[in-house]
Amino acid sequence: MADGMWTRGERIVLRYRNRGRISWATPVRVVEDSPACVALYTAAETPQKRAMQLDGAPIPRALSYEERHALPWRLGDAVWRENAVLMLTRPGAAHSFWAFWRGADWVFLNWYVNLQAPLRRTSIGFDSEDHLLDVVVGPDRSWAWKDEDEFAAAQRIGRFTVDEAAAVRAAGEEAIRTIERRAWPLDAGWEAWRPDPAWATPSLRDGWDAGA
Ligand code: MG
Repeated sequence: MADGMWTRGERIVLRYRNRGRISWATPVRVVEDSPACVALYTAAETPQKRAMQLDGAPIPRALSYEERHALPWRLGDAVWRENAVLMLTRPGAAHSFWAFWRGADWVFLNWYVNLQAPLRRTSIGFDSEDHLLDVVVGPDRSWAWKDEDEFAAAQRIGRFTVDEAAAVRAAGEEAIRTIERRAWPLDAGWEAWRPDPAWATPSLRDGWDAGA
């Protein structure tokens, strides 16, 4: 780290919190850390920590949001899926544009907007919090809300106040305007980005659960 910013190629930890508890932690490579953009790369098959049931079983997607929310959970070992992802976030923004590629030949799959708390710097990387609602972007740059039902359920059980939910929706609408204008990062050629071949898939460093 230099001047409070991370250096390209550094291996840091990105964590998402759920009501204060770390619910997802993944090692990422720093692609860019500047006043304009925080770009973080997660390779396919990256080992990480994810929320799971106390016995280590995955939390079933078939359960309703209310049922999943009520389950006791802990962090356990998991592996990021088969797709590489580059997460592009404007400092202070409550959304992050994620680009996905598949396979060794880097077939570009799609853009996805994760609505989330603005990235907060920690001593080991960045923390955020997932806001449940997302925006998926089609190959033709069409868009659609995703997980509106979960977002509505989260409001019913009080995870978001009315004002917080409105702010999440507004962050999504800002992202949609970006998509419709084909503005950054959709205009910046990121689809052709490739990682430095010298970057081995990182593991989670010691102390991934410490630091604030
Ligand atoms: Mg999300």
